[in-house]
Amino acid sequence: MKRIAVLTSGGDAPGMNAAVRAVVRKGIYEGLDVVGIHRGYEGLLNEELRPLLRRDVGGIVNRGGTLLKTARCPEFMDKVYQKKAAEVLKKYDIDALVVIGGDGSMAGAQALAELGVVTMTIPGTIDNDMCGTEYTIGFDTALNTVVEAVSKIRDTTTAHDRVAIVEVMGRHAGHIAVGSGLACGAEIVLIPEKPVPLEDVCRHLDETHRAGKTNSIIIVAEGAYHSYDVCNFIKEHMHISPSVTVLGYLQRGGMPSAKDAMMAALMSEAAIDGLLAGKRNCLTASVNDHVVLLPYEEAKSITYPVSDAWYDLISVLGR
Ligand code: ADP
Repeated sequence: MKRIAVLTSGGDAPGMNAAVRAVVRKGIYEGLDVVGIHRGYEGLLNEELRPLLRRDVGGIVNRGGTLLKTARCPEFMDKVYQKKAAEVLKKYDIDALVVIGGDGSMAGAQALAELGVVTMTIPGTIDNDMCGTEYTIGFDTALNTVVEAVSKIRDTTTAHDRVAIVEVMGRHAGHIAVGSGLACGAEIVLIPEKPVPLEDVCRHLDETHRAGKTNSIIIVAEGAYHSYDVCNFIKEHMHISPSVTVLGYLQRGGMPSAKDAMMAALMSEAAIDGLLAGKRNCLTASVNDHVVLLPYEEAKSITYPVSDAWYDLISVLGR
């Protein structure tokens, strides 16, 4: 193995830059040439490749976003484009491709692997919703961002004896909502995995307010409800007027937490060591707090759903 390439794909996540830096520097340390591919699979198809040297990745370890930029490339689902991508990698003498991204990006890497390309995938998405791994780079930073924002919202909610609704990311998975709800003491958390009728939300608010609670935080994962629908329902049924804050892209940016920057370094090291040891087409997964290499098919057979115990604890503590 002489020359590897690295790309970031799907939604950006804090810590992706730290992973790019670690792939480049660990690769060079091991005697490899490293090439950066801009804008994910789209850039690969457009041959946006350039060599990366140690100094090219200086000063990015704690910057959010991704130096390589990222993109969504719907045509990459098509075998014709996957074959074209494999040809581009061959044309530039790339012996292996390291993909940093979520489930979709790993599916792209697996498609390339089926065409004979050697790949490794490093899990990077704020949602922590990937198969095969307990942890994805970016999740801890996103959680901290939400907790900081909710603490500020809580000050006003307390001062005015109000109900605040905070919408967080999580179209299909409630990891951010449950983790932040537990960490910031939310009274109610609504997630896609556990549908709760809004009548029950009103009942819960009514009960806790009667028991002396004067303010409440409701965290809504975007995949559970639109926060304004929750607000309108409460207004109509309880004659109170909750505030609504949609955190949106605030959750995707920012300096990675120590945990995310560390995981980026450890997972990148595992990817390069694995390639050099002859391992192929694996996810650098976190399992029982250790980084292990899982072949894609094995990774896809393991899911880490939101913890029921964590979800239940939120309502025990938030009364
Ligand atoms: P994430 O990697 O964060 O899950 P996406 O689901 O948007 O983000 O996937 C990122 C990109 O990966 C897509 O734009 C597409 O180029 C590629 N991709 C997604 N799913 C597949 C698939 N089933 N086969 C091949 N490529 C895919």
